[in-house]
Amino acid sequence: MTFDSLGLDRALLRAVGDLGWSKPTPIQQDAVPPARDGKDLLACAMTGSGKTAGFLLPVLHRLLDAPTRATRALVLAPTRELAAQVHADFTALARHTSLRGAAIFGGVGMGPQEAAFRTHTDVIIATPGRLLDHMRQPGGYVDFRQLEVLVLDEADRMLDMGFLPDIKRVLAHLPARRQTLFFSATMPQPIVELSRQMLTDPVRINVERVAQPAKGIEQALWPVSEALKADLFIALLRQDVVGNVICFTRTKHRSNRLSDVLTRAGIPNARIHGNRSQNQRTEALADFKGGKVRVLVATDIVARGIDVEALEHVVNFDVPHLPEDYIHRVGRTARAEATGEAFTLVSPEEEADLRAIEKAIGRKLPRRTLPGFDYAHKPTEKLEIPIAERIAAIRARKAEERARAKAKLERREQQARLDAERAARGGAAKGGAARSGASRGGPAGQGRPGAGASSASGGAGGSGSSGTSGGSGGGRRRRRGGRGGGAGGRAPGGPR
Ligand code: AMP
Repeated sequence: MTFDSLGLDRALLRAVGDLGWSKPTPIQQDAVPPARDGKDLLACAMTGSGKTAGFLLPVLHRLLDAPTRATRALVLAPTRELAAQVHADFTALARHTSLRGAAIFGGVGMGPQEAAFRTHTDVIIATPGRLLDHMRQPGGYVDFRQLEVLVLDEADRMLDMGFLPDIKRVLAHLPARRQTLFFSATMPQPIVELSRQMLTDPVRINVERVAQPAKGIEQALWPVSEALKADLFIALLRQDVVGNVICFTRTKHRSNRLSDVLTRAGIPNARIHGNRSQNQRTEALADFKGGKVRVLVATDIVARGIDVEALEHVVNFDVPHLPEDYIHRVGRTARAEATGEAFTLVSPEEEADLRAIEKAIGRKLPRRTLPGFDYAHKPTEKLEIPIAERIAAIRARKAEERARAKAKLERREQQARLDAERAARGGAAKGGAARSGASRGGPAGQGRPGAGASSASGGAGGSGSSGTSGGSGGGRRRRRGGRGGGAGGRAPGGPR
């Protein structure tokens, strides 16, 4: 089948030609004709399948039919990265038309986005949270009254991310009579239910098929102990077994730590995860896409939506807990017709999660070992300090602090005793020549606050007033009190 046979507007076919696409992917073959004819769709499609053009082409075709000045299509996507990617695809496919599109997501200013609504941009591509922020703004500038098509992209991920209430709120503001294109990588029960509520007599595409990573992806496992994962990953990079790579970690903390370890090993890398600002995320992605860094360390946030041309490798530094996440991560490589490798580092503790993945994809994955890598050596660096060890370290530090404080107190008390004895001896020998004793002791007391303070408490035995003035840490007063203790009420003569 060719693109020509899909019955699309010539401007769109030109754009497809510019992109160098020779034929539609299977999802495009299945999705474009019914969507172009205004039918609702329920499509099970993975990233990498060409699904974005699968919905954008028919939507754009429809908008070209009868141009108006209104927002007529809304695409909802779970992440900023995916919204940005869909917007980039829109720009490429709409380049020979006058249609305008805007990406609406958080982490960047509201102003330009508000302008996109106010100027009735034809296609709005939004994450649900930021879209609702705009809908709640005073002035009511979000106008979907003329909306004709709603696309839900990666609906399962939106539900995973807790967007269901937001989606429902958005739906309440859309015309009931509209076309809805519903795309999801997986079809768990909540998705089936949501699709039932939203779709009218939909054309179903691939819904019964088991989700699989795209063809052309070479998948392999690298068994290794948890402690040696970072070392093995570095060895794979150094030996060029792994080329440019997105490396997924289980947590943000682990991605930060791994990024630090790679930096110390002299491997240029960038990191991207939910705790990073939009600017940092965009910059990291640009550095990776532009070849400035070879490794992009990421959490699942980017597993969907990133489109990197010629990505050679995906490495799962940790085995994903859910088979769907595995399929999505792995789908980052071998986009459309390309080939790529997806490696997963597996520690013995992760074998159970791995078995679930192998069951979901319906086959056992081959296991590899790296020749020359010492699988029993002591790790160069710990990637994560276990919580028990972190607590033990805090306890040890506190015990040390307590011991130091105790020793200091004992030293002070001893000093105080010595001062008191000296004062008593001095008083007896000089027959009450206390004034000269005070002027000698004063400056020394000031120079060593600890000694001064303790001499105050030491002096308290002989001076009721200094004992009360000591209070809570009145250092100067206590020091003066100390002198007073020694000087027997003639303190005003000492230095202040
Ligand atoms: P998607 O699944 O929409 O994220 O698309 C995956 C990748 O395939 C993107 O890089 C698209 O640009 C590319 N692509 C989409 N359709 C085609 C096609 N018919 N031929 C070649 N590449 C395509």
